[in-house]
Amino acid sequence: MSRLTIIGGGLAGSEAAYQAACLGVDVTLYEMRPLRLTPAHKTGLLGELVCSNSLRSDLADTAHGLLKAELTLANSLIMEAARATAIPAGSALAVNREEFATYITNRLKAHPHIRIVTEEVTALPAPPAIIATGPLTSDALAAAISKVTGDNSLYFYDAIAPIIDADSIDYDLVYYSSRYGKGGDDYLNCPMDEPTYNRFYDALTEADSIAARDFEDVKVFEGCMPIEVMALRGKDTLRFGPLRPVGLPHPRTGEMMHAVVQLRAENAQRSAFNMVGFQTRLRQSQQQRVFRLIPGLQNAEFLRYGSIHRNTFINSPLYLDKSLRLRCGCTTGSTSAKRSSQVEGDIYVAGQLTGVEGYLESTAMGLLAGIFAARQMLGLPHVDPPADTACGALLAYITNIDRGASFQPSNINFGLLPPLDKHIRDRNQKKQALVARALQSWRGFQRLNDNG
Ligand SMILES: Cc1cc2nc3c(=O)[nH]c(=O)nc-3n(C[C@H](O)[C@H](O)[C@H](O)COP(=O)(O)OP(=O)(O)OC[C@H]3O[C@@H](n4cnc5c(N)ncnc54)[C@H](O)[C@@H]3O)c2cc1C
Repeated sequence: MSRLTIIGGGLAGSEAAYQAACLGVDVTLYEMRPLRLTPAHKTGLLGELVCSNSLRSDLADTAHGLLKAELTLANSLIMEAARATAIPAGSALAVNREEFATYITNRLKAHPHIRIVTEEVTALPAPPAIIATGPLTSDALAAAISKVTGDNSLYFYDAIAPIIDADSIDYDLVYYSSRYGKGGDDYLNCPMDEPTYNRFYDALTEADSIAARDFEDVKVFEGCMPIEVMALRGKDTLRFGPLRPVGLPHPRTGEMMHAVVQLRAENAQRSAFNMVGFQTRLRQSQQQRVFRLIPGLQNAEFLRYGSIHRNTFINSPLYLDKSLRLRCGCTTGSTSAKRSSQVEGDIYVAGQLTGVEGYLESTAMGLLAGIFAARQMLGLPHVDPPADTACGALLAYITNIDRGASFQPSNINFGLLPPLDKHIRDRNQKKQALVARALQSWRGFQRLNDNG
């Protein structure tokens, strides 16, 4: 049997290598560090954390807690390393970053099925292979990926708008409507009169932002300008941009409002809403404070905060199949997006490059890619993680063709999971029920994977 090539020894590549090797597949893992560093990595260790040393909440009834539980049940190396090197951090799981990366490096080096090569890969590898080169993929390999997908499919920056839990919106203050009535009731509108807009505007322009890093060239952001930067261009700029009220009269009075914030449903069940045009660099605490001034959002619960940062990722709905294999020759258009059925051999993509966001989410896509690739090489049937699990929901999100034309990366949040059969009003009870359902499904997936 041939060897599995994995490019990138970050969180996803390390997890993929470990999972495939544990299934009995021989792996060659290519990592360019320390020969060549990225703008954020500092060592030659595998699984280096580039920024925070926190792997987010460890509480069982949070989305990140659920993801950790699923990864742990799947014998994740990254979770094993995190538990072994954890440091006190309240309800979060934080690690000693050097011990964490050293642990991962030593475990992979000692594995009989894994060979580690220190080299920058500059061309697409021969299949079977997994590309897990992350948000700072080296330029030569990024160019090679773009060449294969044959379109503007590879993005270099994220411009993410916040997502709100539908249950936290005050529906007495908002209304469904599309601009000029075109397109049905696709948008939820938050109307503002002049004094409300002025209060919001002042808070927005006075709020604190996160500074861009040296390698995050702000010129690139012209096309996806942060809402707070756009606001600084003039008091009425937003009213002629994302907050324009024309074509959205208030249904009760027929009046044209001073400004309107639009929310777009994130899924068919309308359990989560995206704030249209609200990509932002504001600190999370400031997003809470300022965006809760918008009528209807006074109690908003943020499933995802807005952000803008350097990030290489593929338009996965168009370029990956359901088992994370790369497709080629797709086409995109403003109104439609077509997915190619042509698979690029058995070349899989994992980690942040797939359009998930965050340490654990990247690990999860590494875990799945490692299992998918190894099972294919061993001639075992494909196993699909159920969409009501955290891992399955992330996979479903990044491969959902409906998102092709406007794909944005996502972290794990409960809004990605399908709603429960029975609506539960109490938020804590709802989260507990989602977690219980997910873990039951994930155990089923694990049994299928374990039984070959
Ligand atoms: C500046 C910055 C700060 C971040 N902060 C956080 C944070 O605080 N919390 C969080 O959850 N997420 C954060 N992220 C996102 C984070 O990078 C990812 O969540 C996670 O590290 C991605 O895992 P990965 O395995 O996909 O990529 P990485 O962990 O980046 O691993 C990719 C690996 O591939 C290697 N590589 C790249 N190109 C090649 C090549 N051509 N040949 C060989 N090897 C190559 C790299 O050296 C690297 O080791 C941050 C990202 C950036 C860029």
